[in-house]
Amino acid sequence: MNRSRTVRFNYAVNTAPARAAIESFEKLGLSEISARGAAQAGFEIPTEIQEKVIPAVAMGHDVIACSETGSGKTASFVLPILDLLDYSSPWIQVVVLVPTRELCPQVAGEFRRLGANQHIRVVEVYGGMSYSGQRKRIANKPQALVGAPGRVLDLLSSGSLNFKKVGVLILDEADRMLDMGFLPQMTEIIKRVPKQRQSLMFSATIPAGVSRFARICLNDPMNILAGKRARPPDEVTQEAIYVPMHEKNARLIETVENEPGTILVFTATKNRADNVYRILKNSGQKACVIHSNLDQNNRKKSIDGFCSGKYRIMVATDVAQRGLDIEGIALVLNYDLPTNPMDYVHRIGRTGRASATGRALSFITVHDINVLRSIEKVTGHTFDNFVPYGKRHERQSPNRRKLG
Ligand code: AMP
Repeated sequence: MNRSRTVRFNYAVNTAPARAAIESFEKLGLSEISARGAAQAGFEIPTEIQEKVIPAVAMGHDVIACSETGSGKTASFVLPILDLLDYSSPWIQVVVLVPTRELCPQVAGEFRRLGANQHIRVVEVYGGMSYSGQRKRIANKPQALVGAPGRVLDLLSSGSLNFKKVGVLILDEADRMLDMGFLPQMTEIIKRVPKQRQSLMFSATIPAGVSRFARICLNDPMNILAGKRARPPDEVTQEAIYVPMHEKNARLIETVENEPGTILVFTATKNRADNVYRILKNSGQKACVIHSNLDQNNRKKSIDGFCSGKYRIMVATDVAQRGLDIEGIALVLNYDLPTNPMDYVHRIGRTGRASATGRALSFITVHDINVLRSIEKVTGHTFDNFVPYGKRHERQSPNRRKLG
């Protein structure tokens, strides 16, 4: 057992995680209401690109940002824009151009999620959907529009859209839009947006074509280079195994028996944490549990016991572990996969610290596949050989299946 690990416990953070999250976004210049939207979405701390882009947008600058998908770039423009909109106005005030129809609902969804407190109205327009449905939604007087260039231009040309009150124009994934040949449509659309506007351009790379286009459409922009993916430490080996729900407990016992070092087990809820704790205890393991239903005395007992080596395994929920800084854990076991990819990154960052090599193992059920794919996007780590249908898994490999 690794007894050199240290544990720091910050009670202030633990008792008010939402307040701390709100404050960390407010510091960047966001209003309380927008910062609260970020906290409600489960964002605890701003990502690198958010730290750089949010203040620049809030101060009214044009921006060209070199950023990757998975870096939190969408929220980096959505959050400050929520503070710029006039919610009593019937006009579209912000337009986001994106290269693909898949991206439209994704970006629009982020506006809806983060702007729920402001009751923002957003419409997405893209090819392959009926014009009449999109026209109906435009008639609902949205404040924000997210669209693919071809359809946006069609609707502008037919008079169904009017951009005369647009104050912010965003070109998301500009390099892809240019690669896909949208330059003529983008140029036309820009002509129909007021010159007095704020413009933001996001691009994974800035080749010559993007720079040229930036010179046409941006006014004295701030150059921002940020948005590295939220990569977990390199020393962490990441594995995922397919485990049907009813086999999770058997796999849990097998896993902890095979791992001699310290283990942090994550569950989705407090009840599940209590259950897993009981199962471990009944199987003879030295385990403790921590979640927000426990009073501070019992939490402290768990932490002190885990720190001193009295307990080898700690079972935790995401909320409970937030103010907890534990080092030197051999295995982080995701008994339940988190629903937010950034929670995954935070969880597995608990191992592999202080020059120790660490391991993260996730139990995956058929319901977790979409989240697993989002985690791959955010971390840049691919879990190979994944066969995403339960029945095929069970037939092919009734036992433990290693994915990565
Ligand atoms: P994007 O780079 O915009 O595609 O975002 C990638 C994922 O990270 C999305 O699921 C976001 O909701 C999530 N995300 C963005 N910012 C944060 C943050 N500060 N904390 C946690 N998750 C975030």
